[in-house]
Amino acid sequence: MTDYLLAIDQGTSSSRAIVFDASAQKISSAQQEFAQHYPQPGWVEHEPEAIWASVVDVTQQALTASKLKEGQIAALGITNQRETTLVWDRDTGECLYNAIVWQDRRTAKRCAELKKAGAEGAVAAKTGLRLDPYFSATKLAWILDNVDGARKRAEAGKLAFGTIDCFLLWRLTDGRVHATDASNAARTLLFNIHDQCWDDELLRLFNIPASLLPEVRDCAGDFGVCAKTVLGSEIPIRAMAGDQQAALVGQAGFEPGMTKSTYGTGCFVITNTGDTALQSHNKLLTTVAWRLAGKVTYALEGSLFVAGSAMQWLRDELQILDAAPDSQSIAERTGIVGNIHVVPAFAGLGAPYWDAEARGAILGLSRDSNRDQIITATLQAIAYQTRDLSQAMADDGVRPAVIRVDGGMVSNDWFLQFLADVLGIPVERPVNVESTVLGAACLAGLSCGLYPSLQEIAGLWQSDAKFRPQMDDARRQELYAGWLAAVARIRSTN
Ligand code: ADP
Repeated sequence: MTDYLLAIDQGTSSSRAIVFDASAQKISSAQQEFAQHYPQPGWVEHEPEAIWASVVDVTQQALTASKLKEGQIAALGITNQRETTLVWDRDTGECLYNAIVWQDRRTAKRCAELKKAGAEGAVAAKTGLRLDPYFSATKLAWILDNVDGARKRAEAGKLAFGTIDCFLLWRLTDGRVHATDASNAARTLLFNIHDQCWDDELLRLFNIPASLLPEVRDCAGDFGVCAKTVLGSEIPIRAMAGDQQAALVGQAGFEPGMTKSTYGTGCFVITNTGDTALQSHNKLLTTVAWRLAGKVTYALEGSLFVAGSAMQWLRDELQILDAAPDSQSIAERTGIVGNIHVVPAFAGLGAPYWDAEARGAILGLSRDSNRDQIITATLQAIAYQTRDLSQAMADDGVRPAVIRVDGGMVSNDWFLQFLADVLGIPVERPVNVESTVLGAACLAGLSCGLYPSLQEIAGLWQSDAKFRPQMDDARRQELYAGWLAAVARIRSTN
C-alpha cells in the first residue's frame, strides 16, 4: 500500500510533520519549537538553519514513528507561515540574512513613503493586498539594500528569493527546484493575482531584480522529489500552500461563500469567493485561495492580531487566569457581560479599522466589576472582532451561511456559542481541528491521485459540534452596538 501522505507545516513558532492515512487519520506526528529573535523593537527574525533543522528533525521523527516502509508515502505536501522572506546563494544554498518574519515592521517607513507617492491604489489593484510591511516585497528589498554586496549579486543572477515554502523545497530537492505556489506568491506584493504572473511594474516599484524570483506553480502538482541525501527516501513533493489557504482546504471550504476562521495566537478568517477576485471596499485582503490545474479560486481574508494571545495576557501579565482553558468555566458561571468591554488592541487594530496607533483598553468598569467579568469580556471581544470582519465581508457582498472554526481556542464551547450568537449564524467545529496540516496533506493526495477530486476531500470532513445562534436579534444588536462604541473610544483617529 502506498496510500499514505506526509505533510509539513512550517509555522511561526514551531515546525510540525504529520503522516496521514488515506482516510485522513493521523498515523504519527512530531513537533518542534525554534527560537524567535527580536534584534530591535518591531523586528522579528528566524534563523534559516534552525527552521531547516527543525523541519528535517520533525519529518524524520514522524516518518520513523509511522513505521512505514520506504515507498509507502505517496506524496508530501508543504504548508507554511506566509510572507516570511529569505534570500540565499544559488551556488552554496547559504542564506544571506535571517528570515524576516511576517510580523516584522522594519519597513514601515518605506511603505509610508510609497503610500505618500501614491502607489497604494495600483498595488492593491494588482495584488489584492495593502502597502504594508507585513508582506514580502519591502522585506526583500531591505535585505538587498542592507547586506553587503547583495544587490550586486542579485543583479548578476547569483541569488534566489523565497518564502518559507520555496526555501524548504529548494533544500528538500537539494537545490534542484526553485519554485513556489500561487497562494504563497500572492502574499509577496510582487505577484499579479489576476494575470498570475510576477508583475514588472511592481518589480520596478520595489526595486527587485526578476532573476531572484522562483517559478510559480499550481498548489497541487509536481514539485520534484526529496533528495535521498536529505530524508533518506525519495518522496515526491506534490503540494504547497500558505497556512491559511491550506486550512481552508482542510476545512473543505471548496464552495463560494464557505468560510473558515482559525483561533490561535491571532485569528484569520477566509471566505472562498470562487473565480471572482473580489476587491474589498472594507479594507479586507483579496488573495489566492488555491490554483489547481491552472484554475484560480480566490478568497477574501481578514485577520485579528490578538485572539488566543489575549488569554495569555490575562494569564501572564494581569495574572488573573491560571490557564486559558479555565476561561470556559469562568464565562459559564459569569454569563454574558454587557457593560464591560475589553478591547485587546495591543498592537493597534487590524481589519477593518487598520488603526496602527490605537491601543487597548478596559471600558465600563464600576465598583462591583470583578476578575471573572474581565475574563469573560475578553472572550467576548474576540467574538465581536470576528463580527467586525464578517460585517466587512457582508458589506463587500459575501454572506457566509455557516463558519467553520479551528485552532487552539475552539475547544472553548462557551466561546463558540457566544460567537454563533454574535454572528447570528451557526459555528461548526470539525473532529480534526488541525486543518492547516490536513489541508497540505489533502492537496498532496489530490495531486498524486489518491483523491480523484475535491469532492472526495470534502467527504473526509467530519463535524464534531455545531453551535447555533440562540440569542434574539435585539439583544445581539444591542451587545454589538456596545462593542462598536467601545472601539470608537480607543481609535487614534475617528
Ligand atoms: P498557534 O498555532 O498560534 O500557536 P494554537 O492554535 O495552538 O496557537 O492556540 C493556542 C492559543 O489558544 C493560545 O493563545 C491559548 O491562550 C488559546 N487557548 C487554548 N485553549 C483555550 C481555551 N480553552 N479557551 C480559550 N483560549 C484557549
